[in-house]
Amino acid sequence: MQNQYSPSRPCRAADVPQWDEETDIAVVGFGAAGSCAAIEARQAGARVTIFEVAAAAGGSAALSGGEVYVGGSGGTSVQRAAGFEDTTEDLYNYLMMAGGPGADAARTTLYAAQAEPHFRWLQEQGVPFKGTYLPGKWLEPLTDDTLVWSGSEQAWPFSESARPAPRGHAAQLDGWGAGKMLMARLSARALALGAVAHVSSRVLTLVVDDAGAIVGLVARVDGAPRFVRALRGVILCAGGFIVNRDMVAQYAPAALGCQQVVSAGNDDGSGIRMGIGVGAAAIHMDQFFATLPFFPPESLVKGIFVNERGSRFINEDAYHGRVAHYVLRQPGGRAWLLVDEGIFARPMIHPDITVAAVGDSVEELEQELGLPAGALVHTVEEFNRHAAAGQDPAFHKAAAWLRPLARGPFAALSYCPADMPAHAFTLGGLATTPDGQVLDGGGAPIAGLYAAGRTACGLPRWGEGYSSGMSLGDSTFFGRMAGLHAARR
Ligand SMILES: Cc1cc2nc3c(=O)[nH]c(=O)nc-3n(C[C@H](O)[C@H](O)[C@H](O)COP(=O)(O)OP(=O)(O)OC[C@H]3O[C@@H](n4cnc5c(N)ncnc54)[C@H](O)[C@@H]3O)c2cc1C
Repeated sequence: MQNQYSPSRPCRAADVPQWDEETDIAVVGFGAAGSCAAIEARQAGARVTIFEVAAAAGGSAALSGGEVYVGGSGGTSVQRAAGFEDTTEDLYNYLMMAGGPGADAARTTLYAAQAEPHFRWLQEQGVPFKGTYLPGKWLEPLTDDTLVWSGSEQAWPFSESARPAPRGHAAQLDGWGAGKMLMARLSARALALGAVAHVSSRVLTLVVDDAGAIVGLVARVDGAPRFVRALRGVILCAGGFIVNRDMVAQYAPAALGCQQVVSAGNDDGSGIRMGIGVGAAAIHMDQFFATLPFFPPESLVKGIFVNERGSRFINEDAYHGRVAHYVLRQPGGRAWLLVDEGIFARPMIHPDITVAAVGDSVEELEQELGLPAGALVHTVEEFNRHAAAGQDPAFHKAAAWLRPLARGPFAALSYCPADMPAHAFTLGGLATTPDGQVLDGGGAPIAGLYAAGRTACGLPRWGEGYSSGMSLGDSTFFGRMAGLHAARR
């Protein structure tokens, strides 16, 4: 059966032996996007059946930090309580920059206007948010606090286009991994509203009629193929493709340099392949989130990254994922974080980090790392001279993070590929309208086919601009849009 049905080979409606099940909307994947699509579709009165390959709902979202990127409309209740005003225009400008060269203005406009109501919607579905602000620089809260700075808002060049505000809103759960709470509540809500879920059930392919419309799917349920008719549509919410190394090699080869996948394990691209199999366009497939989490502790942000020429290449106060992209593209992917005695620490995520060199002077460090004579000394002298005046004319690091590296011993923490594996997930996916309709190569909607979350190419579509919370914000919100549109079909 595995060979008979493959994601990239749709089943013709004429070849369906019998319809085993009928629903209005079939949702593929019970993660962030799938649960929100199901909630909206049920509330709009449609019958909804969800197919999930794993033994339970949750997907990668259940492993995540549960941080959702929201703001605008003057600020969420949490932003306002912490004293931050956040206009829709600032959120829009930030997201457009974060979306990079291919940013989608229509999608961003809708999201910026709806992000604050979307936060309230998540609360109404039962997702708890404590409502407190955690200052400082974190990957995600280690506490049960809500609001954190989760991107490059305060860093150049983003700070020049949009007034900074913290926008990462984490679900309430003590410690890392609040996505568990987010997904427990969203999936329970979908079921409470009457969505039917088949778990341990892989969707194998789509069913397409003679006119090219999607009329159902084939799933493996209890070990047998099941033909499911979906009267109003199929919504693909099956995640991205980071665990499918053949697809990564084909579409996003730069991500092969990241040995760690940021995934619960089922991001094998099956949803994207199903879309491509029926003529959908896939866009920005080369883009991926990457990280080399070099903080917390935040003292490390005051260090400087240098490459094998002994040169700096980025303002280190930018989002850790942006810094990671710059590290990965240095010659040989080789880079070190240079720190002095005053700020030395081991990054929380990698306490066993390789300390590639230690010395009482920068000259010693330069020699130990085998860098060109004088290069690192010159870089540090220049950095220190300007940092003492609170300036960074070369890379525009904000004054709050500027401090001369003056007190030995000095150390170089290694972010070279052999020492430090980078982590990644993919951002490219099916082209869709903001309401989730999948588009073919000519830009026309494919009747009956929707996609959301990382199966679609959504708001986050540029690795260098990604901010924590953008994927869950996008998946939950545009999952809702797809569910609503399909239900009204
Ligand atoms: C450790 C970690 C931390 C993260 N932290 C954050 C964060 O704080 N904020 C943020 O925005 N993002 C975060 N992310 C990323 C975010 O979790 C994902 O990008 C997000 O979950 C994508 O949502 P989705 O609905 O597209 O996919 P998922 O939530 O992964 O859901 C997809 C579902 O589809 C199922 N599926 C796949 N193929 C099939 C098939 N053929 N048939 C049936 N079912 C199928 C999968 O099993 C899965 O349950 C994190 C990810 C990880 C792993």
